[in-house]
Amino acid sequence: MESIIRKAPESFREKPHLDNYDATIARFSWAQAEQLLDGLPNGGGLNMAHEAVDRHLQHGRGDKVAIRWLGKGGGRRELSYAELARETNRFANALQGLGVLPGERVFLLLGRLPELYLALLGALKARCVVSPLFSAFGPEPIATRAEMGDARVLVTTPELYRRKIQGLRDRLPGLRHVIVVGEAMAGEDGVHDWSALVAPASADYTIAPTDRESTSLLHFTSGTTGRPKGAVHVHAAVLAHAVTGRYALDLHENDVFWCTADPGWVTGTSYGILAPLVCGVTNVVVEAEFDAQTWYEVLQRERVSVWYTAPTAIRMMMKLGAEAVKAYRFPALRFMASVGEPLNPEAVVWGLEAFGLPFHDNWWQTETGGIMVSNYAAMDIKPGSMGRPLPGITAAVVSRNGGGGIELVTQPDVDGELALQTPWPSMMRGYLNEDERYRKCFVDGWYLTGDLVRRDGDGYYWFVGRADDVIKSAGHLIGPFEVESALLEHPAVAEAGVIGLPDPMVGEVVKAFVALKPGFQPDEALRRELLGHARKRLGAAVAPKQIDFRNSLPRTRSGKIMRRLLKARELGLPEGDLSTLESDEKK
Ligand code: ATP
Ligand code: MG
Repeated sequence: MESIIRKAPESFREKPHLDNYDATIARFSWAQAEQLLDGLPNGGGLNMAHEAVDRHLQHGRGDKVAIRWLGKGGGRRELSYAELARETNRFANALQGLGVLPGERVFLLLGRLPELYLALLGALKARCVVSPLFSAFGPEPIATRAEMGDARVLVTTPELYRRKIQGLRDRLPGLRHVIVVGEAMAGEDGVHDWSALVAPASADYTIAPTDRESTSLLHFTSGTTGRPKGAVHVHAAVLAHAVTGRYALDLHENDVFWCTADPGWVTGTSYGILAPLVCGVTNVVVEAEFDAQTWYEVLQRERVSVWYTAPTAIRMMMKLGAEAVKAYRFPALRFMASVGEPLNPEAVVWGLEAFGLPFHDNWWQTETGGIMVSNYAAMDIKPGSMGRPLPGITAAVVSRNGGGGIELVTQPDVDGELALQTPWPSMMRGYLNEDERYRKCFVDGWYLTGDLVRRDGDGYYWFVGRADDVIKSAGHLIGPFEVESALLEHPAVAEAGVIGLPDPMVGEVVKAFVALKPGFQPDEALRRELLGHARKRLGAAVAPKQIDFRNSLPRTRSGKIMRRLLKARELGLPEGDLSTLESDEKK
């Protein structure tokens, strides 16, 4: 699928912030971008929560809806920027009242409840370090992260506390305070009820001077390739959130924005909380998990204008067909974006068919703190490409030479590792307790991402695969994404995961695991048809030699296919760290 999706300026409902890529790149500087922020009063430095919340009161947005929360049972709560300022002040005061000090770690383990958002922003005001976890994590992943991160405070619900925390309190001697949201639980040692502690706290709070380089967030990676790493981020990252919210997501003053990610994954914090609030838009939060129909209803009823989601969800919607989408109307929707995994060309084009808009893929990692490579509202899309680097970001394709150095690949269309020139404001400042591993990510002023890509002659980047996942077969380097995308073009295929299996003749052979769309039978005839389809699309050297059918593929809680697990299971090897595996896939 080579066709380009052209952007016609007359079709833009808002003039894109980045209307001319080359010109914007040429004039951009991070120093000038500081104008997008206010900074704390009287030269008090930079604090994420001030930029996301308090400053909007001085810009006439006090009454504007900051967060529109849609609860599981049909509940609805709106918080204006002024209310958000007051409620987060209460939480900051509550922490201070408990004697919690700046720099101490506040862990969040609660579903997408309003209190999650209040606690995160309030703790940032108090200059604590926040670490949001998936509420679906089991006790062990919670304990290891809280131990590693030296959790001092935990905000959770009574139910999660009883099921997952109570039994491991003695492993967490540093955990002094547990704040529970919901039914009262008074009496337990160090357990406070949110309603008794936070609600009566003062709604006035002055953020103390904050060093922009002080730690703000601790985010664990998705664990797709192994044991999750704790990426340390600082308050200065908020500048990247402002810039990427503006250029990559094209957020405008009147937008209603919805990021579907949970804050347990970095996307749900950087773009589910910080970027939209920093840009002063209305941020929709949906408590419920994915359900296609519910999602279409939210898009329609809330008049969402900018929507940021992920390939897994898009593929699930594709499985149900474009017709299901057409029962709804989305007159407000003007920009759709995706992140987290490669977005197959098929999915980009399906967006056009189902919603009348393409999905705009973008690329980043927990370590980069914000979007680094993106498709933009005004830039033509080459389906299957993750786009071009953000203003302020210098990207390159590099090859590692044997001696620990790197060489820049200057010619187009050559595979190599994606590297980003340091520094940029949202770059991680460390891996928690893993200095050596952190240092190894940097060579000659470049951050090496561990992802293989190629850049074409127009400067678009194409994802090839994670360095760990790339298959070497008979002298070819095969990226699983290319093979998965070809399989996805077949009408029977809903999902595909591709791995290499050791082979004495050719090094590795390509094997695919496929989940089918409803109505298709996993039989021998279809297997042969898919093998033939792939061979025709990819050539015999790259096409899979084997295909197995599965009902679903193992994925992380952030929605990524765990190819390492497909491989380990296939080869009967140890399965490694499964702390982020979605529980229904656990054997
Ligand atoms: P771990 O590092 O623990 O193995 P992870 O890399 O999946 O987990 P994240 O930081 O959540 O943890 O994910 C970032 C990775 O996701 C990227 O390095 C890349 O491999 C993949 N990714 C994100 N967006 C895209 C995209 N648009 N296209 C292709 N891959 C993407
Ligand atoms: Mg990673």
